[in-house]
Amino acid sequence: MNYNKKTIRDVDVTGKKVLLRCDFNVPQDKETGAITSDKRIVAALPTIRYLLENGAAVIACSHLGKPKNGPDPKLSLAPVAERLSELLGQTVIFAHDVIGEDAKAKAAALQSGEIMLLENTRFEPGETKNDPALAKALADLADLYVSDAFGAVHRAHASTAGVAAYLPAVSGFLIQKELEFLGGAIFSPKRPLVAILGGSKVSSKIGVINNLLEIADTIIIGGGMAYTFSAALGGKVGDSLLEADWLDYSREMIEKAAAKGVKLLLPVDTVCADAFAPGANFQVVKAGEIPDGWQGLDIGPETVKLYCDAVADAGTVIWNGPMGVFEFPAFAKGTEAVAKALSHTSAITIIGGGDSAAAVEQLGYADQMTHISTGGGASLEFLEGKELPGVACLLDK
Ligand code: ADP
Ligand code: MG
Repeated sequence: MNYNKKTIRDVDVTGKKVLLRCDFNVPQDKETGAITSDKRIVAALPTIRYLLENGAAVIACSHLGKPKNGPDPKLSLAPVAERLSELLGQTVIFAHDVIGEDAKAKAAALQSGEIMLLENTRFEPGETKNDPALAKALADLADLYVSDAFGAVHRAHASTAGVAAYLPAVSGFLIQKELEFLGGAIFSPKRPLVAILGGSKVSSKIGVINNLLEIADTIIIGGGMAYTFSAALGGKVGDSLLEADWLDYSREMIEKAAAKGVKLLLPVDTVCADAFAPGANFQVVKAGEIPDGWQGLDIGPETVKLYCDAVADAGTVIWNGPMGVFEFPAFAKGTEAVAKALSHTSAITIIGGGDSAAAVEQLGYADQMTHISTGGGASLEFLEGKELPGVACLLDK
């Protein structure tokens, strides 16, 4: 996949009507519907401001949640329009439909320097089906398509990909940054490239492990998936997360790493607990020697040393998946130590994956990483080497 894409700086936006796909899929309070974090709205501001300051008329759109059968007032983007308006310090005109009479009339009347927001794109059944008729109707509202919704580029929907068949399509600053860092790490990494892979399951990371084995110099395995690797080597894992169906696969990956000369590091010790609970009793044991009735919830101190040494002289580090159950402070030490080690390297450090990003933020290391991806699912698919439809559809540089 070519990830060198045109951005809003490469085209003339003055006097243009710009359909801007944002990721306004904000978390909401279940009871009141109030926006509980406006981070995604804030993240879109640089692109929006650039467009407005350069004389574009901005028609913003996004999905919110997963409405099943057309419009659902609980999932209206109206509160987002309000919050966006406060953040921008200017009126955000709200259309009560996506491609209906209201949207068309308001888009037609929109002037340079003004911004409007369409209603939730998933209120249109054609959105998730990537219906060409919906894509065309969206395109008819504008002269240029700008995508800045990295969190949605792994989906081929009408507003994330289909619309680009009918309009010139370029990226905003958020996607540009994601492509620069994730793309750089995958396609032209500063070496040695170290990939740290963790999280709960081997099965959810097969694509990532397999692809990174082709690219990385060192792969570090931690988190719940490490126990399937340990069991594959004949270790005792007690009640740890174990995916019996993936033992052969794990062995295959170990062999593949050896054949390719990729250093594959597995935990040498583990912190195991007598229950999956924040206050469980715990002890440190050697890898593969977890007693019956105990489960591994974090990497042990020797493993921490091994892994921190392995990232010390890296050129690039890609991290996907926490080293343990970081949600419980007693089992967050491995994840924290790795985050700290990354903050001390001169390597380019890239965090992909929703929980990994949450862990780094929760532990207070977010501002010391080179790049934390804003798209959980999208960054995973990028690391898997898959083509992202919402990126592929943009004009090449
Ligand atoms: P990401 O979202 O960054 O891709 P995952 O979703 O794959 O990461 O994994 C994150 C989850 O893995 C966390 O909720 C964490 O508690 C869990 N996890 C990590 N280590 C273990 C373990 N040893 N046992 C059980 N769960 C674990
Ligand atoms: Mg996750």
